Amino acid sequence: MVKSKRSSLKGLAAKYGLKPRKKFTAVHRVLKAKRKCIQCGSLKFIREAVGIWACRKCGFKIAGLAYDVKI
Ligand SMILES: [Zn+2]
Repeated sequence: MVKSKRSSLKGLAAKYGLKPRKKFTAVHRVLKAKRKCIQCGSLKFIREAVGIWACRKCGFKIAGLAYDVKI
């Protein structure tokens, strides 16, 4: 794993303890990462529903994983 710059944990506030919050942050970051649409190159390629990834610009849609696209 590449060591990234330190940043605060996302979401969950001060609940559930450190370990679950760290795991949640890792997943959240992957989910919200900027992705390029394979068809038009736009960065508006986001998750529409669990396992469904769609481009907000051109409407291109593919199936992926729940929190990430693996092509
Ligand atoms: Zn697109």
